[in-house]
Amino acid sequence: MNMRITLLALLTTVSVASAQQTVPLRKSIETSKRSIRLDVPMTNSIRKAFTAGTRDFTGKPGPNYWQLEADYNINASLDPATQTITGTEKISVHNNSKDELRNIVLRLDHNIFRAEAQRGASVPAEATDGMVLTSIKVAGAPVDLTATPTFGRSTATPPSKLTVSGLTQTVASINLIEPIKAGATVEVEIAWHTKLPGGTIGRGHRMTQRFDDKLFQPTQWYPRLAKYDDLRGWETSPYLGPSEFYNNFGKFDVYLTVPGGWIVSGTGVLQNPKEVLTATAQQRLATVLNSDDEVTIVGESEKGPGKSTAPGDKLTWHFLADKVNDFAWATAENFIWKATRATIPGKGAIPIHMVFAPERAKSFEKAGQIARHALEFYSKLWAPYPFPQFTMQDGPSAGMEYPMVINSNQGAADHETAHQWWPMVVGNNETRYGWMDEGFNQYMNILSGADVRQRAYSLDGLGQSYGRSSGSESEAPMMWSANDAGSGYSFQTYGKTPLMLSMLGGIVGDEAVINAMKKYTATWSFKHPSPWDYMFFMNNELNQDLEWFWYYWLFTTETVEGSIQDVKTVKGKTTVTVHEAGQMPSPVVLKVEFEAAGPALKAVANAKMIDATTAVVTWPASVWFNGNRTFNAVMDFGERKIKKITFDPNGRFPDANVADNIWPREQSVK
Ligand SMILES: [Zn+2]
Repeated sequence: MNMRITLLALLTTVSVASAQQTVPLRKSIETSKRSIRLDVPMTNSIRKAFTAGTRDFTGKPGPNYWQLEADYNINASLDPATQTITGTEKISVHNNSKDELRNIVLRLDHNIFRAEAQRGASVPAEATDGMVLTSIKVAGAPVDLTATPTFGRSTATPPSKLTVSGLTQTVASINLIEPIKAGATVEVEIAWHTKLPGGTIGRGHRMTQRFDDKLFQPTQWYPRLAKYDDLRGWETSPYLGPSEFYNNFGKFDVYLTVPGGWIVSGTGVLQNPKEVLTATAQQRLATVLNSDDEVTIVGESEKGPGKSTAPGDKLTWHFLADKVNDFAWATAENFIWKATRATIPGKGAIPIHMVFAPERAKSFEKAGQIARHALEFYSKLWAPYPFPQFTMQDGPSAGMEYPMVINSNQGAADHETAHQWWPMVVGNNETRYGWMDEGFNQYMNILSGADVRQRAYSLDGLGQSYGRSSGSESEAPMMWSANDAGSGYSFQTYGKTPLMLSMLGGIVGDEAVINAMKKYTATWSFKHPSPWDYMFFMNNELNQDLEWFWYYWLFTTETVEGSIQDVKTVKGKTTVTVHEAGQMPSPVVLKVEFEAAGPALKAVANAKMIDATTAVVTWPASVWFNGNRTFNAVMDFGERKIKKITFDPNGRFPDANVADNIWPREQSVK
């Protein structure tokens, strides 16, 4: 044909076009190289921590690691008629940092119920006045709640009185006159009241905190000290609803006054059972740890002062909790109270309490046994459950977690119980990095679910499935603050992590991932890891430089998109041409299926025989680091005929089109 003419014509066209600069500069994916990023980005906050020696590349707390402690004494009473909690509290702020604190930041989460509040997807059941502070003292000195603080104040005139800003926001700041010195403790005393929102229009957890004036489920219900850390100083991200919390660990000494006859449950251990419980309830409680049976502590027919509780118009319930990062509770005039036990390895039996209204008794029938399995399974998986009791509370929020307490019936019991490990033990910053909390939780729920069914867990297919959803402009990379994840929040925070850990298991083995996570849990128990600590810890524990892996999964929304493009066998030596169209590299894992009969198979160094006629051959991800998009995988098994070759046979690497992972291609078309 007229090939020569065509070629000449083409060359002419190209030269003219380039002169006019109309040829597209971007090459096709098939032919362009990709540059693989081999390190994780270090932001200013983590660089600062490395410089200070508070964190480092070991992924363990650095030699200079510190964290603040906040101890709370709270005295609060609930008035069902006004649905309002009125309280006083003293927060002992232990400044264990190396810094002088010039202000004290408070979290006033109930201000999300104010009509004008900034919010994410959450909608309160009722607009309230929010968290109303009526008095604040710092080291005994009163704070002027009415003064307008001067921002960016000049150094010429030091402030003459204590002021506060942001009292109508979820984050408020007390401006100090004298800074809190490094190593010093200061006491902050606050008087406050807050109405618990009720009604039917609430959307999202914690947005409805009561059923009429009969059942109350207070959460994030008292002024809390914000977190001050070595990464950013005060964490001042607003509470928008979906992303939950990041709190200091400390002791809680809490007195809760409610009407007589109302049962109270909560974080910590009840200190005064003789004052608030009936003799019968105390006797029944004493039997709970004897067996896995369920014991009724207060039954449906036992109602009112002297029957469900000790006699009295009002009763004050006293709880103590140590080493916790929050305190939640619930109370109702008609709670049924049941209890059973869980046996924690190395520790023994602890009680599981359940409090619920009679109309939802059915939703609590299996709750005790689900919570027992979760507490025992996760104790073995990561670290023994460290707290002295566990409580499940009924109420409008049926899927939320606090230390020792979950607001959940049996529906979400496994997942909410799992939260006792993150963030109640490993105190990650959930507002920014929800995946270190909800995502790890989703992963461990898969393992727990398989254990319940007495089956081996399988993470196959999960990593690959990300290929089908990636590329959406709604997906926020996991390292974006969860507060800013928008409509992609749920996938960013919950969904993507098990997919990431499925691929990680595809590289190093699932057992190795689980063992490394177990050590990570122990290393960061009651501390506050950042994502970098997690990444570097895992690299060290797995003894592999996986920065490229963390970069693609956590900082991008890229995928692998592998395929087999060609297979040629010459004299028993087979060359498989593998292509990766995505930006994320992966190991080259090929399952090779041979004919049953034929010459003996030769041993191949990077191959593992699955059975007599099937081998899995692996090359590391580093084969891609030169930027080429094709890799010729050469294997010499000898003259036995190959029936079929599959790239990524366990479905671990993100891939939208898996049909082209199989050779010969027609085998995938059925
Ligand atoms: Zn959760």
